[in-house]
Amino acid sequence: MESTEQQAARNDQPEARQPVSLDFLGELRRTHMCGQLRASDAGKRVILMGWVHRRRDLGAVIFIHLRDREGVTQVVFHENIDPAVHQKAETIRPEYVIAVEGLVEKRTPETVNPNIATGEIEVVAEKLWILNESRTPPFPMDEFAEIAEDARLKYRYLDLRRPQMQRNIILRSRISFAIREHLYSQGFLEIETPFLTKSTPEGARDFLVPSRLSPGYFYALPQSPQIFKQLLMISGFEKYFQIVRCFRDEDLRADRQYEFTQIDIEMSFPQQETIYEAVEPLVQRICKEAGVEISIPFPRMTYAEAMRSYGIDKPDLRIPPFHCVEDLFEGQGLTQPGLPLVAIHIPNTGAPSRKERDEIKAFGAERGLRVYDDVKRLERDFPGPMAKLRERASAGEEDLLVLAGWPSEKKGHRPEETVLQACGQLRLYCAQKFKDRHKLLDNRVFQWVWVVDFPMFEWDEEEQRWVAAHHPFTSVHDEDLEKLTTDPASCRAKSYDIVVNGIELGSGSIRIHRRDVQAKVFSALGLSDEEARAKFGFLLDALEYGAPPHGGIALGLDRLVMLLAGENSIRDVIPFPKTAKGTDLMSDSPSPVPEKALRELGIALRKK
Ligand code: ASP
Repeated sequence: MESTEQQAARNDQPEARQPVSLDFLGELRRTHMCGQLRASDAGKRVILMGWVHRRRDLGAVIFIHLRDREGVTQVVFHENIDPAVHQKAETIRPEYVIAVEGLVEKRTPETVNPNIATGEIEVVAEKLWILNESRTPPFPMDEFAEIAEDARLKYRYLDLRRPQMQRNIILRSRISFAIREHLYSQGFLEIETPFLTKSTPEGARDFLVPSRLSPGYFYALPQSPQIFKQLLMISGFEKYFQIVRCFRDEDLRADRQYEFTQIDIEMSFPQQETIYEAVEPLVQRICKEAGVEISIPFPRMTYAEAMRSYGIDKPDLRIPPFHCVEDLFEGQGLTQPGLPLVAIHIPNTGAPSRKERDEIKAFGAERGLRVYDDVKRLERDFPGPMAKLRERASAGEEDLLVLAGWPSEKKGHRPEETVLQACGQLRLYCAQKFKDRHKLLDNRVFQWVWVVDFPMFEWDEEEQRWVAAHHPFTSVHDEDLEKLTTDPASCRAKSYDIVVNGIELGSGSIRIHRRDVQAKVFSALGLSDEEARAKFGFLLDALEYGAPPHGGIALGLDRLVMLLAGENSIRDVIPFPKTAKGTDLMSDSPSPVPEKALRELGIALRKK
C-alpha cells in the first residue's frame, strides 16, 4: 500500500500548483467569522479570513468554501466583477489561507444549502489576499473521510482541522471552563501541585526524571497529586480542585494514555455523602455542556451488592442484573456447596441458536464455570425452582436465561467473588452477543451509579500479600478498624467509585487523618516503620499537626469527554496523544539525547 507520505508527494507535484505571490496581512481585520452570516446580513460589506475548504472552478465563476473555527461560508469570484481578482482566485488551492472582502448576498432559493448554517447567503468577493499557500494535504479535511490513524497522528495539526476533531477539542475546552465555573461557585479553589515530585504509589510504574544537581537521584512525575491535595487540607484550604495532568507508565489502550487529565478534588470535614453531593451537580453540569440531560442524585450501591448482582465493581446498569439462585436449587449439585449459582438474564434476545449456546458455554468454561444453557431441560428437571427463578428475574419466554455454577474446588481468598466475577464476565459477553436484538447498549443513554464500601485490601497473587485496593491513605470503616491485622479480607474501606455504563470514571475515598491509624494500615500492608518513613515521612509528620478529617475524588476528564463526544478512543479527545506504542509520530518522541546531556545527568546507558 502507498504510504501517507508517498500519497502526499504524489498529490503535491509542483505542476499541480501555480506559483503564487503572497500578500501581507498588513492592517487588515476580519469583520465576521465564517459561521456567522445569515440572510439578515445581506448587503453588508464583510472581511472574512480562513482556510480554503473546497474550491469549484466553473470558468467564469469560482466558488470556494471558506472555513474557520466557527464554520464555513461560500465565497464567489465572478470574472466580470474584477478579472484580476478572479484570475488570482484561480491560483488558490485547498488549505490556502486567504482573506476576502465582499458583499453578503442572499442566495436564490434553489441554491440555498441547508447543510451549513450560512447556507442562505454567499459573499461576492471584490478583493482577495492570499496570506499563505499550502502543500496538498495528505488527507482531506472532510468530516467523513476514513483516514489511517498513523497518518492522523503524524499530521496531527491537520487532523485537528477536521470538523470532528474541532468539535471534540472545543467541547473539551468548554467542559474545562464549566468545571472551573461550577467548582468556583461552590467555594473550591484551584491550586497547583508540582510535577517534579517524590514517587507516590497509585499502583502503576512511575515516569522518572533524573536530577542534574543530585546525580543518581530522581524525581517522579506524579501519578496523581494525592499526597499534595491531602497536605493542602492539612494546610487549611478546605476545598481544593485542579484539572491536572497525571502520568502513569502503563501499557496503553484505547482508553489509556501515559499522561491523562483528572478533575482532582479534595474537601475537609466531609461525609462520604458530602463528596457525592459535590460531584453529582458537577457531572450534571458537564453533561449539560455536551447537550446531555441527566438526573441526580445517582443511585448508590455497595461493592458487595454490585458483586452479588453484576459480578463486577463497575456495573453497566443499562443491562439487567443477574440473580443468585443457589437457595432455589439447594442440594441439586449445580454448584459447589457454599458458592453462588447465578441466573443470567438478558431480555428480548429471542431463543439462542445451538451455536450461540455452545459459544456461551465455552466462554463460561474458560472462566471455570459450568453453564446450564438448556432452559427447556432445566424447566423439565426443576419445574418449581425454575418458576420461582423466572419470577425473581422477571424473565419472559423471549429472554435469554442461563444458569452458571462452579463445579471445581474453591479458588482465591474470596472464593465467592471468584465465581461472581466469572459470571459477571459471562453476563457482559451475553449482553454484547445479542446487542443488536435487545438494543440496551445505547451509548447516548448514561446510567450513573456510585459503587461504595470497597474492600480495603486486595490479595496480590504475585507478591503473595495484601495490597491497598484504592491507595494506602484510604480510611477503613470505623467498625472494621480492629480487624485491620486480624481479618484484612473482611475490612471495608470508605472508598467509592463513580461509574457510568460499565466504565469507571473516577474513584476516591475518605482519607486517614490520624497518625496512629495510618501506621496501622501501613503495617497491615506489610510496610515496616522505616519503609513507611522513607516513602511518606513528610505525610506522617504532617498528620501529627492537626490534620482535619478529609476526603476527595478524582474523575478522568479524557474518558468523560470521550463518552460525551460519542467517541470510542480517548485519543480522539486529546489534542496530541501518543500511539499505542507510546510514541509521538509527529515530533518523533521519545528520542535519543546527546551524550553531553547524559553526562551532565551522570547517566551511562547500558547495552540492551
Ligand atoms: N488519587 C486517586 C486516583 O488518582 C483519586 C483519589 O483518591 O482522590 O485514583
